[in-house]
Amino acid sequence: MAERRKFKKRYCKYCEAKVDYIDYKDVAMFKFSLSERFKIMPRRLTGNCKKHQEMVTVAIKRARQAALIPYIVDRKNVVENPFEFIK
Ligand SMILES: [Zn+2]
Repeated sequence: MAERRKFKKRYCKYCEAKVDYIDYKDVAMFKFSLSERFKIMPRRLTGNCKKHQEMVTVAIKRARQAALIPYIVDRKNVVENPFEFIK
């Protein structure tokens, strides 16, 4: 898979950046751990350490509740609901 190749090097980006705490308001921090569809990337792909992965998971879930990042990103105009036309 192409995604797997992106994360060939396995090191914790948060450890490298010497991040002690990931705040939910710090959306820029999530970019290492979110896919392009705003899913949380698993640790086996990002190579984050356990400490930081748990931290970023909690922060992302809080950020979703605070509407800072979306829960899902839908493809626009791909599927129309066919049941709308049956009346
Ligand atoms: Zn780390």
